Parts: sequence; structure tokens; C-alpha cells
Amino acid sequence: MIEIYNTLSKQKEKFRPVHEGEVRMYVCGPTVYNLIHIGNARPMIFFDTVRRYFEYRGYKVNFVSNFTDVDDKIIKAANEEGVDASVISERYIEECRKDMASLNVRPATTHPQATREIQGMIDMIQTLIDKGFAYVAEDGTVYYRTRKFAYYGKLSHKDIDNLRSGGRSLLVTGEEQKEDPLDFVLWKPKKEGEPYWESPWCQGRPGWHIECSVMSKHYLGDTLDIHGGGEDLVFPHHENEIAQSEAANGVPFANYWMHNAFLNIDGSKMSKSLGNFFTVRDILERYDGQVLRYFMLSVHYRSPLNFSAELMESAKTAYERIVNCAANLDFLMGKAKNAEISDAEKALLEEADGFRVQFEKAMDDDFNTADAIAAVFEFVKWINTNAGDDSSSGFVKDLKDRLTALTSVMGLVIERKEEDSDLASYVEAKIEERQAARKAKDFAKADAIRDELKEKGIILEDTRDGVKWKRA
Ligand code: AMP
Ligand code: ZN
Repeated sequence: MIEIYNTLSKQKEKFRPVHEGEVRMYVCGPTVYNLIHIGNARPMIFFDTVRRYFEYRGYKVNFVSNFTDVDDKIIKAANEEGVDASVISERYIEECRKDMASLNVRPATTHPQATREIQGMIDMIQTLIDKGFAYVAEDGTVYYRTRKFAYYGKLSHKDIDNLRSGGRSLLVTGEEQKEDPLDFVLWKPKKEGEPYWESPWCQGRPGWHIECSVMSKHYLGDTLDIHGGGEDLVFPHHENEIAQSEAANGVPFANYWMHNAFLNIDGSKMSKSLGNFFTVRDILERYDGQVLRYFMLSVHYRSPLNFSAELMESAKTAYERIVNCAANLDFLMGKAKNAEISDAEKALLEEADGFRVQFEKAMDDDFNTADAIAAVFEFVKWINTNAGDDSSSGFVKDLKDRLTALTSVMGLVIERKEEDSDLASYVEAKIEERQAARKAKDFAKADAIRDELKEKGIILEDTRDGVKWKRA
């Protein structure tokens, strides 16, 4: 049974969906005014893995993740370029989708965009006004009446009275018209040069928090199973989403709240505003997207992860070991003499099943991808010792299927790329040529072939199971 650490209760809880066999989850997506950085990629990769694991466990997953396509930063970027805000947001949504594909992050079931859901936001704001949870100020701004919601602070475990004195982030200046400093904006009047929509209160645009309450309700209903995002969103964003949704709908908003820790660089959060970031694009120039994916999953999602060149290099080596193992299985399958699985091999397959069990145990325990990857690694080591030239093709295929089943939960592609498979046949032909030279005791030729491959970045290893190769 899957257990999830719930930010609401601060403990692990058994996962029980609202609807049998289904998971409805919502993850806050990026604000699209720039290329995404690898900090933004952490929740994308992690929650994509959560979705894959639920599917592996037989659940039907409805996964919704938004693009925030109206916001101060988007408008600023648009004004700088002298274009419409939608030109900026559509451009970066497109770029974000490309980055997701490079990281093997599947598109969500739905990717709603704020600007296309304005009517829903107006409706929910009106409900909040009607129920006394919101009020309209003189200039047409609509505020949420925070103190009216008795459970405010339940997610971030903050006491509303301490917030009043200490929560400076909420005490924004220039908002004298608020009844209380804790009140937050649901709708605000337009300013010169900003996009706006008609509403009963003024021409303007929605506040940020209301978009997620409305879009999650639209696609997933009043009560979600899981709501996720980075831990910077716990307060105030998610706290405010709860206040809006529960006041408007009268039922619990999300049963499980999951938050990933930060991707840091030199000990501080990677962020656009600090300027200490690498875009996903920067990293893809140097590494395969799979390596970045492996890197992100090598640590538990609730632990901070420090980005460094060394860690990326070790992720690369580790990932390639898995790919090499898979390639070796393909190679063995091609040259196996027998198809039928022998009795001894049957016993080995039972042993191999232990790695699946180990993997599932790790993932069931609050999606511990670090331990799950360790299980995959042990399995790879086991395969390298237990599969060889004498193995039957049935046995080798079974191992390959098992390995692929686990790595696909991680979203890791372990097949060599097209260009690599041409390379593989080239290298294998060279290896055969070298073996023939050795057999003929033409060691000079054998060494020359080894050197030729080395120059191309291919290292040969003579092992008991024959010659293996890897990239330098
Ligand atoms: P934003 O575009 O800043 O709203 O962020 C989109 C998503 O990325 C949110 O879930 C954030 O919590 C998450 N995020 C942003 N920066 C980081 C970071 N350095 N580490 C982990 N998650 C982050
Ligand atoms: Zn959100």
C-alpha cells in the first residue's frame, strides 16, 4: 500500500483515493515568461514519476498541471518586447513543452491556462462574495476575508495571530483599503498597458491564487486526491487555495498535500530572481535529458538537492551503466543458442523478483526514488553476473522486461538512441575483428583496433564474460 507524507498532517498516511482505482492530482506549473530552469524541472520530473508509479500500480490517473499565463512578469516581458502578453506566454509554453519532452515528462492529462478560465474565476469569486468570504473595495479590487476562514494556517501550520505581527510577506504596502492586512487579492483593477477582462467589479485581472482553485475544480472536482508543488508554494499560495476552495465548495479541497524540497546551488534555492540558475536548455547542451532526470530522482523528493558538476557526472556514469546492461542483454538475446528457460534459470528468475519487491517497497514508502534506484542498481549488478553467453534467450528477455518495467516507472529510457545503435553495431564488428586478430596471435592488429576505438571515445574491457565496451 502506498504511503504519502502529507504536509497537512506532517506525517505519512496510507493513500486512499476518493474514487476507487482513480487518482486525481493537481500540480502547480510554471509562470511562463522565460525558459524554465532546472529548479522548475524538479517538481515536473518528480510528479511525473508519481503519476507513472500510480499507473504501474493499476490506478487511472487524471493529472492536471497549469501554466500561469497572466502575471506581472509576463506583462513586463511583453512590454519590453512591445508585444501582447499572450505572445510571450504562448512562446514559453511551447518551449516548456519541448523541455518536458527532453526530460521524458509526459504531458499532463490537461494543461489549463489561466487566461482561458476567467469566467470560472469570476464565478468562484462571486460565490465567495455571496458567502461573505470576500468583499469589494472602492476601486473594484476584490479581497479574500482571511479571518473569516477558521482553518487558515492549517497547511503551513502557522497561527493566524502570529502572521499578523510577523508575516511580513502579507503586509503589502499601499493596500489601506483592506479590512485586515492578512486579506489577499482575488481580482484587481487593470493598470495602463495591462491585459484585462470585464467583471462585475471592474475591468481587471485575477489574482494568482484563484486560478488553481478554479482550474483544479473544473477538471478534477471539488475534492482532489493529491495537490503538489514545490515547498515554496505551501505559504501563502496553497494556504490561500485551501481558503478559497473550501469556503466556496464547502468540502475538503485536497486529501494529500505533497511538496518537493528545493534544488539548490551553492546552498541557496535556484531561482530566476536570484539569477543563480541554469535553464534546462543549458543542461541539455551538455547532457542527455535522461541524465538530468536520473540526477533528480537519485535523492528523495523531500530532501534538498544541491546541483553540482560532480553529481551530474556521477549521474551520467550511473545512468550509462543501466543503459549498457540493457544493451548487453539485447546482445546476449541475439546470440543465445537456446530459447527455452532452463530450470536453473527459473530459480534465478525467482531470485530476480526480489529486486522488484525491493523497488516497490521503496516507492510505496512515500515515493523513495533514491532507494528505488538503488534497487535497480543492485538488479543491474545481479544481471551482469547472472546473464551470460550460455543464457537462454527466454531468460535474457525476461530480465530485460523486468529491468524495463522498473526503469519506465522512473521515466528512464534505457534503449540506446538510434545514433548509438549504429555505433553499437560498428563497435561490435570491431570487437569481433579484434578477437579474430588475437586468435591469429596478431597482437599488433588487436592493439591497433583497441586504440582506434579509444580515439573514438570507446573503452574496451576484457572480462570473463567476453569483451564489454563503454564510452569514455
Ligand atoms: P514558478 O514558475 O516559480 O511558479 O515555479 C513552478 C514550480 O517550480 C513550482 O512548483 C515551484 O515550487 C517549483 N520550483 C521553483 N524553483 C524551484 C527550486 N529551486 N527547487 C525546486 N522547485 C522549484
Ligand atoms: Zn497553484
